[in-house]
Amino acid sequence: MYGLIKEAGIRPLKYVVEDPGKYFAIVEAAGAVDISLGIKLGVQYSLWGGSVINLGTKKHKDKYFEGIDSLDYPGCFAMTELHHGSNVQGLQTVATFDPITDEFIINTPSDGAIKWWIGNAAVHGKFASVFAKLMLPAQDAKGVSDMGVHAFIVPLRDLKTHQELPGIEIHDCGHKMCPWDGKYTSSLPTINKRFAATLGELVGGRVSLASSSTSILKVANAIAIRYSLLRQQFGPPNQPEVSILDYQSQQHKLMPMLASTYAFHFATSYLVEIYSQMKTTHAEQLVGDVHGLSAGLKAYVTSYTAKSLSVCREACGGHGYAAVNRFGILRNDHDIFQTFEGDNTVLLQQVAADLLKQYKQKFQGGTLAVTWNYLRESMNTYLSQPNPVTARWEGVEHLRDPKFQLDAFRYRTSRLLQKSHIESVILAKFIETVEKYPPKPRLQNIPSFFISF
Ligand SMILES: Cc1cc2nc3c(=O)[nH]c(=O)nc-3n(C[C@H](O)[C@H](O)[C@H](O)COP(=O)(O)OP(=O)(O)OC[C@H]3O[C@@H](n4cnc5c(N)ncnc54)[C@H](O)[C@@H]3O)c2cc1C
Repeated sequence: MYGLIKEAGIRPLKYVVEDPGKYFAIVEAAGAVDISLGIKLGVQYSLWGGSVINLGTKKHKDKYFEGIDSLDYPGCFAMTELHHGSNVQGLQTVATFDPITDEFIINTPSDGAIKWWIGNAAVHGKFASVFAKLMLPAQDAKGVSDMGVHAFIVPLRDLKTHQELPGIEIHDCGHKMCPWDGKYTSSLPTINKRFAATLGELVGGRVSLASSSTSILKVANAIAIRYSLLRQQFGPPNQPEVSILDYQSQQHKLMPMLASTYAFHFATSYLVEIYSQMKTTHAEQLVGDVHGLSAGLKAYVTSYTAKSLSVCREACGGHGYAAVNRFGILRNDHDIFQTFEGDNTVLLQQVAADLLKQYKQKFQGGTLAVTWNYLRESMNTYLSQPNPVTARWEGVEHLRDPKFQLDAFRYRTSRLLQKSHIESVILAKFIETVEKYPPKPRLQNIPSFFISF
């Protein structure tokens, strides 16, 4: 597969930096032909290449850029471990610094810390960005300090013979990297801030998955809708059979999906656009917005596509099951999009937490004040508009007016946010009260089924 990419002369790494829109278009196009090729490109350029470019220093970039771009240095992104995936702060691989040899020592202290699921490692990888907890001697020399999760470039295989290097789990990237002056420095003061910066640089993978998933949805839509136009079943007596797309049930399956595909196309194009802006301006507000939007869209789009692939398969009847029509391979290869680069449930929780935090910040004060301020702002915003959602105008012109549609979405978002905020406050209060005044055990009142369950 790498041979094919090399032969085609594709060198996309500079686009990861200079023009992410072009890079995502290449991955999207490759993924539409063969999802595994798109994933392979993503691992090499977004994950391995992206981690070197975004987390590395100038030295790393100078040393690895060309090799990564030309595929002479196939590499991996080694974050997940056997015992920890979503919970990255729980990683157990440890990096310690040995001042005598001037080396970082990467150690896998237990079986649970074994790097797991690492794409590109099994066959091609010559290097890996290994994520490990950096432990440094404590200032008072009484022990060690946990500096949080950092990324380390670890050589995996001999560049010429391709043989695995000895003691591969504990190799470091050698003293050719920055010399060590015995002082740990970081512009970010706390573990949490460093952690956020490390992960924040990696949103590119989520942007790429959201747009690749949309591309796969386009492919599935095209196959199912074209087939539905050509396939004919039943019809009026003594007349030709009708196209199955003329049946309302078929339209209900496929048309909202087509509309969503368009919406995802525009939404992910917008995401790519603001991601590109973020890469050039590094504006703080933009970093936060891209982080939230990429997590939310990645989760929403990939879950939607995963479900829709089954709907498309069914919409094509028995022929949808034939391998030649591609639904099997699309469904299998796309399925993991819901888990890697962040499990969808966990990503949505992050988005919800972020929205609630913003909501609270916007309306400072206790629960009642927040709610009152919210209502006052809602009234000002929505009720003063000439065509608020509540006007219930039904004319085509009004319903198709993008301004009305945007207002309707804003209104719904605010309502949901307010509802979630109140529910989360009530739940927090409930938990706080239960913790303060623990209820007496009442197991005897619970039906035995629940106890045994
Ligand atoms: C094919 C494949 C390729 C991969 N490639 C790479 C790679 O190249 N590099 C790499 O580093 N990793 C890679 N991964 C790992 C991937 O990123 C992780 O699988 C992913 O982050 C999820 O972690 P996990 O598998 O530990 O799931 P878990 O975190 O154990 O999640 C299991 C379930 O628990 C739920 N859950 C977890 N936490 C919560 C919570 N707080 N609240 C509610 N529910 C929760 C999740 O929703 C999920 O349903 C790959 C995985 C696969 C399968």
